[in-house]
Amino acid sequence: MPAPERPQRPTIADRLTRLSYAQIAGWRDDDHALAFAAFLRSAHQIVETPPTKRHRAIDLNALVAVAHRAILSGPMTAQTARRFFEEHFEPARIDAAGFVTGYYEPELAASPVRTGQFLVPIHKRPPDLIDPPAGCRFAPRCARAEDQCHRAEPPLAGTEAGHQFACWRPLDAAEAAAP
Ligand code: SF4
Repeated sequence: MPAPERPQRPTIADRLTRLSYAQIAGWRDDDHALAFAAFLRSAHQIVETPPTKRHRAIDLNALVAVAHRAILSGPMTAQTARRFFEEHFEPARIDAAGFVTGYYEPELAASPVRTGQFLVPIHKRPPDLIDPPAGCRFAPRCARAEDQCHRAEPPLAGTEAGHQFACWRPLDAAEAAAP
């Protein structure tokens, strides 16, 4: 008797809904030259060590070919980079709960020395970047933390442009002025 057919598990490809670039909010205004510079770095890696892991959602030969084209193109303007992405990639929405690995560089204003704007150093990495601590995210590494900091997230305060803060125990004027 033949074995009963096992039901096929849906793949990522089954869960993709194709979109047009016009459906992506902010797509036309993004700095695609920066995105292209990042892709160019990956392109060198892809060409030098082509990926071998087969995946139904990705045509690896096409990916290597696009990486080649990116290297031959060299640096691009925001406009030519946008055209490159639109010609070589198809945007899609993933219709499933899951976890996506993305790489990006956060831009945070900071100063290596104490200034009138940057008063308190925050040392160490958060204990868990995916599941941050409850309450104030800085509490486990903040010398001023008290009970409330571990229990509740502080609300955003301050009205001065560029000088808002979220802290249960902000420095008072005398502390802020102390060397
Ligand atoms: S609320 Fe302020 S004092 Fe409390 S842990 Fe966070 S940064 Fe430190």
